[in-house]
Amino acid sequence: MTYDILIIGGGLVGAAAAVALKRQGRDVALLEIRPPETDAALLENGWDARIYAVSPANQSFLQSLEVWPSESRIQPVARMDVRGDNGGRIEFNAADIHAPHLTCIAENRWLLAGLWRQIRTLGIPVITETAEKLETNIQTASLTLKSGKTLQAKLIIGADGANSWVRGQAGIQVKENPYHHHGVVANFYTEKDHCGTAFQWFKNGEVLAYLPLPDKKISIVWSTGEPEKLTSLGPEDLAAAVTRQGENILGKLSPLSPAFAFNLILRRPESTVAQRILLMGDAAHTIHPLAGQGVNLGFGDVIEFAEISRNAPDIGAYQLLKQYARNRLEPVRTMQLGCDGLFHLFGGKNLPALPWLRNTGLNLVNAAPAVKNRLIKHAMGL
Ligand SMILES: Cc1cc2nc3c(=O)[nH]c(=O)nc-3n(C[C@H](O)[C@H](O)[C@H](O)COP(=O)(O)OP(=O)(O)OC[C@H]3O[C@@H](n4cnc5c(N)ncnc54)[C@H](O)[C@@H]3O)c2cc1C
Repeated sequence: MTYDILIIGGGLVGAAAAVALKRQGRDVALLEIRPPETDAALLENGWDARIYAVSPANQSFLQSLEVWPSESRIQPVARMDVRGDNGGRIEFNAADIHAPHLTCIAENRWLLAGLWRQIRTLGIPVITETAEKLETNIQTASLTLKSGKTLQAKLIIGADGANSWVRGQAGIQVKENPYHHHGVVANFYTEKDHCGTAFQWFKNGEVLAYLPLPDKKISIVWSTGEPEKLTSLGPEDLAAAVTRQGENILGKLSPLSPAFAFNLILRRPESTVAQRILLMGDAAHTIHPLAGQGVNLGFGDVIEFAEISRNAPDIGAYQLLKQYARNRLEPVRTMQLGCDGLFHLFGGKNLPALPWLRNTGLNLVNAAPAVKNRLIKHAMGL
């Protein structure tokens, strides 16, 4: 079989690329070894603890693909309240920049199900067989499956996650800087109304975020070097620990979903393109989740490539791939450096003046509306 584009990996980024590029009239196929659940009845079963703060720019993109979840599963965030470890504090309000909200919290499972329903509606072929070998030449890419069958495409998109097989096959080296932290995620019921506010605390090198879910519910991400101190707790004890770390701000928390932990690593491949190969999403970059921007960067990759390749006669032409790599370099590096810088600024214990400096910094930015509003707009993709 020969396609214009063969996408490997149907997570949020690969699935969004499949839908966006198919809608532009490209002949697209998707290889995914674990297609997700799309049955609405099963999906309604509970709240996914893997959630994202989707920027308004990416929300518009997902709405244009007709995959945005129903309102009952979305929580707009109107305010962010970020607290340092020594009296520092910064607040962001949607009203300050005359926007209806700063970001929207959406669940992984629901976003994925919407995208996969579109994949089925658009009749995009889905291959579930394991890939064994990837070869390219100047005109085409060729993928050999376990059965020995071979698929050809003008372009292979590797959207197969942080440990990308495509990246390895392309011989692209990746720099990995482990944070020696895990992100522990879980959902809770709250005693008090969160009023659409997201909270974040930087304390003793750890970062805790409360992200609002519809009604009196929140999802948390706790970045910690000792994840087992949380994951080994029973549900009630974990809820009590999260209540304490969050300064009781939403009253007593009660368990809603089990906790799980994922390893946090900053990954920077030496390139995001190779002959007839392009990387997107976590295959192309991973960052610390303290700003909830990981998947936003991945959707940004899809938007950029769909835009620049719209009328291209050869979708896998090296010049086009290089342009994609160049255009994505700055937004990705800025976000990686920003999150990494914040993590180390608040994690640093060696300099005695550092706690004063970082907390004063937060207060200074808070008192400078122009700087603050520019920061908000950047994070919103405006
Ligand atoms: C356990 C976990 C929890 C997370 N929780 C959060 C969170 O709460 N908040 C947050 O902001 N970020 C979180 N992240 C990060 C976030 O999920 C990613 O940034 C985002 O999902 C990137 O999407 P992606 O499509 O690039 O990659 P992925 O979501 O990793 O998707 C990759 C897809 O490729 C498929 N695949 C892999 N290898 C192959 C292959 N060889 N052949 C075919 N298919 C293949 C996989 O089955 C998968 O479907 C989490 C990550 C993990 C791993």
